[in-house]
Amino acid sequence: MKGETEILCDLLRRGTSPVQAVGVCAERLREAGYQRLRYDQAWELAEGGRYYLVHHDTTLFAFTVHAGWENGAAPGVRIAAAHTDFPCLRIKPSAEVSSNGYVQLNVEVYGGAILHTWLDRPLGIAGRVALRGETPFAPRIRTFAQEKSLLSIPNLAIHMNREVNKGVELNRQTDMLPILGLAGDGEEGDAFLSYLAGELAVKKEDILDYELTVYCREEPAFLGMDGELLSSPRLDNLTSCAAIVSGLLGAECREGLCVAALFDHEEVGSRTKQGAGSLLLRELLMRILKGMGREATTEQDLYDGMLLSVDVAHGVHPNQSGKADPTNRPVLGGGVCIKEASAQSYATDCEAVAIVQQLCETNGLACQKYVNRSDVPGGGTLGAIASALLPMRTVDIGVPLLAMHSARELMGTADQETLTGLVRAFFCG
Ligand code: ZN
Repeated sequence: MKGETEILCDLLRRGTSPVQAVGVCAERLREAGYQRLRYDQAWELAEGGRYYLVHHDTTLFAFTVHAGWENGAAPGVRIAAAHTDFPCLRIKPSAEVSSNGYVQLNVEVYGGAILHTWLDRPLGIAGRVALRGETPFAPRIRTFAQEKSLLSIPNLAIHMNREVNKGVELNRQTDMLPILGLAGDGEEGDAFLSYLAGELAVKKEDILDYELTVYCREEPAFLGMDGELLSSPRLDNLTSCAAIVSGLLGAECREGLCVAALFDHEEVGSRTKQGAGSLLLRELLMRILKGMGREATTEQDLYDGMLLSVDVAHGVHPNQSGKADPTNRPVLGGGVCIKEASAQSYATDCEAVAIVQQLCETNGLACQKYVNRSDVPGGGTLGAIASALLPMRTVDIGVPLLAMHSARELMGTADQETLTGLVRAFFCG
């Protein structure tokens, strides 16, 4: 059996865009015997059945159904949710820019990336491509994930900016264009599409559009004297995706409806057709409950349910400890964080928090609390957004990180096992 850290590292290596992250999670579910359902087909749900669904290739739901439960004791509907996207660069249409002997790509910044951390790193391209189909309503969609470093965004030499160590403001349009290579003799504006067509073994004219992520190609690395730290791209939020899938697979849920929900678009606000701010999850729950023969109790089932929103938290930074709250100071390796904010940027509900604390206590799992320092606004999560559409108890949890939204982030290695244990306990406790 693979350990949770190994499972996480596999997802970190292969989950290079939301499309690939969903692909790896779906592969795990399939191998464990989960059956794929399709939105546009009728479902026949069987007692004890295990299913998954993929929406627009970047959002994934998996669930297990056991119909006969009474509301009131433990929640019959349990959902653990995370996001599949991460801050990165996305390639624009007609992306090629040729100047001064270089071929570059025109990109836009996706989400709240720390821009300077993307400089001087080997970068790759992954995502999906839409190709001409037989009819206008049936384009062919192909995934694209190349195990190769292709791009780099070079820094300016210090000799040309002696002030560089006082801080440099990077322009999102002009300073972030990666170099794809050196200009050859080919037709101008043609190299990238020709390359893509060659890799996909299709005609260049058949590439109509794409969603392509520029991602950091570096590998996960264990640091510290005992490997107690893990440095990697995409810890936010593939740590949570890995833990939720493992938690569901390991839980052997025997009662109720257990749902894993992995959404795209959290880093750009979640209010999209496959984001946590859509009606997708609510409608999915209604459809499943109906399929389980619980039409008469659907509303009660939703009120009685519970949502675990899983996303990373901030550990105390040793060089900037003044940025942390004075009394709630999570450390890397110190266990799962329960995140609270009275502004509800983290779903905060003391009943749900107490449930998680007791699950940790009874399962011997370390947990710590995170709140923002009052003069630091902090971030938000999909928990607060999804729970506005689902009137159920909700709590935000996740592993503490340093360098959140950097091209590489840092976590405590042991926290992944703890997080997975908590998700498993949530599903079967
Ligand atoms: Zn996140």
